[in-house]
Amino acid sequence: MAHMIIGGKAVQAQSGKTLEVRSPVDGLTFETIPRGEAADIDLAVAAARQALNGAWGKMSALERGRLMLKMAQHVLDHAEELALLEAQDTGKPMTTARNDMVVLARYFEFYGSAADKIHGEVIPFLNGYQVNLLREPLGVTAHIIPWNYPAQMMGRSIGPALAMGNAVVVKPAEDACLSCLRIAELALEVGFPPGALNIVSGLGEEAGAALAKHPDINFISFTGSNEVGVLIQQAAALNAVKCVLELGGKSPHVVFSDANLELAASTVVRGIIQNTGQTCTAGSRLLVQSDFYEEFLSLVAEKFSKVRVGTPEMNLDCGPVVNLSQQQRVNKYIAQAQQDGLKILAQGQIDPNVPNGGYYVTPTLFGQVPAEHPLAHEEVFGPVLAAMPFVDEAHAIALANGTDYGLLAAVWTENGGRQQRVAKALKCGQVFVNSFGAGGGVELPFGGVKSSGHGREKGFMALEEMSTTKTVIHFHG
Ligand code: ADP
Repeated sequence: MAHMIIGGKAVQAQSGKTLEVRSPVDGLTFETIPRGEAADIDLAVAAARQALNGAWGKMSALERGRLMLKMAQHVLDHAEELALLEAQDTGKPMTTARNDMVVLARYFEFYGSAADKIHGEVIPFLNGYQVNLLREPLGVTAHIIPWNYPAQMMGRSIGPALAMGNAVVVKPAEDACLSCLRIAELALEVGFPPGALNIVSGLGEEAGAALAKHPDINFISFTGSNEVGVLIQQAAALNAVKCVLELGGKSPHVVFSDANLELAASTVVRGIIQNTGQTCTAGSRLLVQSDFYEEFLSLVAEKFSKVRVGTPEMNLDCGPVVNLSQQQRVNKYIAQAQQDGLKILAQGQIDPNVPNGGYYVTPTLFGQVPAEHPLAHEEVFGPVLAAMPFVDEAHAIALANGTDYGLLAAVWTENGGRQQRVAKALKCGQVFVNSFGAGGGVELPFGGVKSSGHGREKGFMALEEMSTTKTVIHFHG
């Protein structure tokens, strides 16, 4: 049975309650996790506060950084074990799970290296004054993690928080958290002081809600659905704490007729099947200039039809989706679009040897999707791509910006002026030009506008988000 880490100890929920963990591969139970509740969150927050007032709070930035670099190496030393856990828990292909652990280690490396490189400032003021701007930790930071990339998301969220000297409480997703629980244990092994990193598994509406509204936290980072994002923001408001929200997306590829077709077509397909489409930044809309729409879509369809779905060990393009409700959700979108008369241009294939009872879905490419159809503006969170033509640059921009979301976008054109114009006109947090990297780049500030959320993760901007400043005004005459 897996366990939580609170105050440096491996523990079960105080109530003794557990949750069963089902494998997406065959739908069977293979593990149990503690069902932490408000009482466990109370202990975790208290342990974090104690760590801030104790050994963790006294560590210099240099020492914190070194510990994080040690953690990066420890993750790499355990990468295969973590990848197996992640693949078992989420169903993702082993290659993807292995890559996720490299990225997890990179988060600790990047933020560990940055820990002692964030400086304060000296501000010129009136004669006779010295003004110092100190950068300080926020205190106890709460991190509510989704199930699509559990390990990576945990690294992304706690990396900058720990680097800045906060003590963290993590609530991973009930649907996939085994890697997160193990990461917390690895952190103890490398010498993080008790309470610096606490983790409480459990249900969102129990442990998650208790953490979000806890009066002794100083910050919340949340990645997940828009519905829960609103609840998190409300809870944060009641305690007047800051939150960073990374919510959904409906990210478009905007492909002009002068694009490198081969590169664009293969990148577009990869951008929607990655992690079986369960990525906030999945490139789920394909906007193509009308005069070469047919030509480009036939290339995309040819590649799309080669997509294969299987178990993690088969190591194909996609694994199953994470659970039954996610499978039903994706299938419902596909069935509804067919009922509405949308044309399927291509479908991938589920390997005939996958076990019964697993949560497999068929990757599907729909063509000529009208802008008002739900598939053109709602997030499916599965391997379903909606293609539609545009006539000119202005039309492309209007379509691209025509959803509630604003997370990521890609523009494909060899025309330099157009690259700049379109990139500036797109309303989102990241724009790729002639490439696409869903979720990629530890160094690159990332986050949304509009309903995709607010605040920035990754890069140095996350260090600013997860710290505060104090202006010390000293009159010396
Ligand atoms: P999904 O619908 O894709 O599972 P969620 O937004 O429900 O996404 O889940 C993302 C994370 O938010 C998970 O860790 C989940 O446990 C947590 N969560 C869900 N509901 C709540 C809630 N009411 N309060 C706090 N956290 C929650």
